[in-house]
Amino acid sequence: MVFIDRDGVINKNLFGDYIKNWEEFKFLPGSLNSLKLLKANGIKVIVVSNQSGVAKGLMTLEQLENVNQKFLKAVRDYGGEIEAVYYCVHSPDDNCECRKPKPGLFFKASKDFGIDLERTYTVGDYISDIEAGTSVGSKTILVRTGRGEETLLSRDKWSVEPDYIVSDLYEAVEIIIKLKIKNNEQY
Ligand SMILES: [Zn+2]
Repeated sequence: MVFIDRDGVINKNLFGDYIKNWEEFKFLPGSLNSLKLLKANGIKVIVVSNQSGVAKGLMTLEQLENVNQKFLKAVRDYGGEIEAVYYCVHSPDDNCECRKPKPGLFFKASKDFGIDLERTYTVGDYISDIEAGTSVGSKTILVRTGRGEETLLSRDKWSVEPDYIVSDLYEAVEIIIKLKIKNNEQY
């Protein structure tokens, strides 16, 4: 099982704005193919994403759900599959248990799907993804797309180090598949 952050990993980050409609959602090069490759190798994907634009009143839950339906369909049409998407729609001030770096969404997914979190991977472009993944025992991979390069600039301030740093989702998926074969893992 792989937890993948959405904006900046699968699709282009709007940097400071939220993706409110499907026209604003642009897949990053190679990301659809990466998701297809995961499916072809029997590796399940769960998307975990902070979407505080809802709590801030900058987009509605309906807009988020509409984009989500189209996102899932586009992935499916390409030959990939996303098992589930977990969004935190709270604002940082809400102090919820689900906004990354907190691991609430990972625990929820673990419960819903009966996943052993120690045998998962977490792919993200921001240190909060790596912190959340590390805190639940997931192996973590930082990508340089999205906010990845910016994240790397503050490396001296990181509280945790990712297990791998790669250029993009495709490279992350190559590592995950290689490790799956090497360890003869089932997931
Ligand atoms: Zn939340």
